Amino acid sequence: MQVFCTSISNAVCSVCLFAILFIESTVSAQGLIAPNRQLDPEAGMSAILLGTGIPLPQAARASACNALIAGDRVFLVDTGRNCVLRVREAGLTDINGIFYTHYHSDHFIGLGEILLNYGVAGLDKSIPVEGPVGAKEMVDGMLANYSLDVSYRIAHHGDKFSTAIMNPTVTESEPGVIFDEDGLTITMFPVCHEPIAPAVGYRFEYKDQTVVFSGDTNVCPAFAEGARDADLLVSEVSNQAIWDRALSMARAANNQRQVEMIQEGLEYHAESLALARMAQEVGVKKLALTHFFPSFPPTEQAEANFISGMSDFYDGPIVVGRDGMEVAP
Ligand SMILES: [Zn+2]
Ligand SMILES: [Zn+2]
Repeated sequence: MQVFCTSISNAVCSVCLFAILFIESTVSAQGLIAPNRQLDPEAGMSAILLGTGIPLPQAARASACNALIAGDRVFLVDTGRNCVLRVREAGLTDINGIFYTHYHSDHFIGLGEILLNYGVAGLDKSIPVEGPVGAKEMVDGMLANYSLDVSYRIAHHGDKFSTAIMNPTVTESEPGVIFDEDGLTITMFPVCHEPIAPAVGYRFEYKDQTVVFSGDTNVCPAFAEGARDADLLVSEVSNQAIWDRALSMARAANNQRQVEMIQEGLEYHAESLALARMAQEVGVKKLALTHFFPSFPPTEQAEANFISGMSDFYDGPIVVGRDGMEVAP
């Protein structure tokens, strides 16, 4: 701006400065207003794949995070890195609860940012948080990290900043029906992510439809039972063929550490072809993939490569998730 102004008259420069300030203030003001999704109480369920990534950073993908919409109710399943960005983009200005599948950090690390963002926006309530054993330890640790920040905001803004929002109501549950209100039933079921335990998935049933979230798991009987007859299964997935090539390279380079890291990763994720077979066997009507191991940029070519062969075993539609994508059963 200064360089530009030195080359023109002061009068023109004033106009120019005003124009730029006007544009900047307009942009800033728009940025302050979060989009607000209008929720239809008569609507059925849908899933928003808010974060389709894994711990390894991939610019286009937040890590594990999903929203389940049931009429005018909104629940999050996991809150990974950058989940807050996708929550805002999706216009989810209020939520009814958060469910955790397990406590690998790529599934919870975004919780503090989400709560803080709601607090700044003026939401004044204690959000219910539920998960298997470990939820309290995880939330307490997160709150401890925010204690200075929260004290500054309350000292500065007084009761304009909600204290309730930074004190979620935490419940630790065992697998079984954990929620049954106004036609919505939510069932927690065990999955197979050993040696990580507990690890669970969630089954949402509403208006004669079922949406299931796998959490992190390999393909096993407990996962299959949890997903049985789902109208929509949102599942994590790994690709053996891609990792086989990586394993060959690691072995050729004599990198035993990398070989073992890959093998240990493959042990507890859902191999794509086995997942396709399982979905067919238990009558899953639609499959939406997320938490791609390994992650890849969201391009059609990479997506086709990743799901290669799955349709040989599964007849239903396969949705390859991208951040922000909404999928109806
Ligand atoms: Zn994960
Ligand atoms: Zn995990």
